[in-house]
Amino acid sequence: MKTLLIQTTKELINYRNSLPNDSIVGLVPTMGALHNGHKSLIEHSRKTDSHTIVSVFVNPTQFGQNEDFSKYPRNIDKDFKLCEESGVAVVFAPSANEMYLKNDEITLRAPKNMGYIYEGFIREGHFDGVLSIVLKLLHLSLPHHAYFGQKDAQQLLIVKRLVQDTFLPTKIIPCPTQRDPDGLAMSSRNIYLSDLQRKEALKIPAGLSRIAKAIKEGETKTSILIELAKIELTNLDVQYLDICDYNLNSITHIQKDSSIALIAAKVGQTRLLDNLWI
Ligand code: AMP
Repeated sequence: MKTLLIQTTKELINYRNSLPNDSIVGLVPTMGALHNGHKSLIEHSRKTDSHTIVSVFVNPTQFGQNEDFSKYPRNIDKDFKLCEESGVAVVFAPSANEMYLKNDEITLRAPKNMGYIYEGFIREGHFDGVLSIVLKLLHLSLPHHAYFGQKDAQQLLIVKRLVQDTFLPTKIIPCPTQRDPDGLAMSSRNIYLSDLQRKEALKIPAGLSRIAKAIKEGETKTSILIELAKIELTNLDVQYLDICDYNLNSITHIQKDSSIALIAAKVGQTRLLDNLWI
């Protein structure tokens, strides 16, 4: 199967309509600069779905004014090649005008609690933008499955809420975080890091490993777990470090299979996210 590059919504709708009724369609939404984290999502879809659609779109509405929208890494040729090699059916790479047609568009609001704490507190309106683009992509590709990384835990939980609250038939499939051999979670933004900054950044997975180890040894109190992580995080510009449930409410004691430790930290100008699903 030859990978198609589609750049307009009309063509994507036509493509979707042309698929046989028994097709199983998977969608992998990305902002491009694809790495092995993205590739693992694609591989999940390739195992499950007859047709995988990868969207590559740096979504302007999820970036704040002083964020890195204009300098966010873009390399569609390289991304297309990775998709081709991974057996992707369609790379959907629209322009911003294609996705946001009108000046006075309907806008979505993320849930008041889930959408406006942690990432949503620091990046106000970020999840409104994420939900707008995800909803559009889901409508255009009508996938059976859509794949999201656990690396962006809050995004994953809010997108699940979107599908639940608007009765969309797509199943959201969470995929585990892929890490480089040194333990740093893969991210398109890691290329901003100097060698020295990368060393600093490794304090983040070290902090999370500390939490994981203490939990294994029987600790359940989140205040103690957080203090332990802080030992690893000394001198790092931590924006938030907390342990919460799947509704993103802070908790005092962890519960197996329903808690997450979340961390965001700035290394130089680069914001990095990581987490531990407990
Ligand atoms: P992005 O291009 O950064 O918007 O990410 C697109 C999708 O890939 C999101 O669902 C991310 O959670 C997921 N993703 C990004 N990095 C990783 C990673 N290291 N491991 C697994 N999934 C990831």
